[in-house]
Amino acid sequence: MRTPIIVGNWKLNNTINEAITLVKSLRSLVVDIADVEIVVAPVFTALSAVAQALADANIQLAAQDVFWEDSGAFTGEISPGMLKDVGCNYVIIGHSERRQYFGETDEEVNRKVKAAHTHELIPIICVGESLAERETDKTDAVIKDHVLNGIAGVSADQIPSTVIAYEPVWAIGTGRNATPDQAQEVHALIRSVLSDIYSADVATQVRIQYGGSVKPDNAAALIMQPDVDGALVGTASWEAESFAQIATAVHNTYSTDKT
Ligand code: PEP
Repeated sequence: MRTPIIVGNWKLNNTINEAITLVKSLRSLVVDIADVEIVVAPVFTALSAVAQALADANIQLAAQDVFWEDSGAFTGEISPGMLKDVGCNYVIIGHSERRQYFGETDEEVNRKVKAAHTHELIPIICVGESLAERETDKTDAVIKDHVLNGIAGVSADQIPSTVIAYEPVWAIGTGRNATPDQAQEVHALIRSVLSDIYSADVATQVRIQYGGSVKPDNAAALIMQPDVDGALVGTASWEAESFAQIATAVHNTYSTDKT
């Protein structure tokens, strides 16, 4: 069985002190959860302090973005090796906000994914359709494009250490989540794309998260779906209590209903 993973995307929020306060209270609330990977993604400036606050905790660290070069004249960028150095195990790549506001392309997403793997950082590749694309029946084509372009050149050995986050753009920060059936349909499509490229066996090892208005009261129904292996959480991760409630809902779902 795939280990479920929930990731809190803190986005552009929190000073260093605020980040430490948030992660310390989260740490105390999830201390007993051992069967769910719990990850937080603070802003770059808080990574070092949060890494220290997480020493020996059951919470891991992610960055919200990365550049593909190791070093050099690339003002303002952060390399995968630097993220490893500060204590990150994960990095979110290709979030729709980066695609939308910063013009990030599939090709750039792919370069970042490959660079992350080179440094043994686990990429969390975000894919998802806009509302207009869903309403014109382009969801499948958009998802296939995002997945195929995002993982181009990633080997069968590396793909199990890759997380894919299905995040319909219309569900992010809107309070309107995909229904469990809608999520399952796209997650199954993503797994079948992986199966075609690699093999059914390899595809079953890849974790596919759902993201888009996940809250404590809808997390269990989404997680129950056979191909939904966790959640990428924005707004509800900005408060320790609600993120801990989602972690608990995932834990309860896996320890009771989802076997
Ligand atoms: C996100 O930004 O990845 C996200 C899923 O946000 P929210 O949970 O607020 O919809």
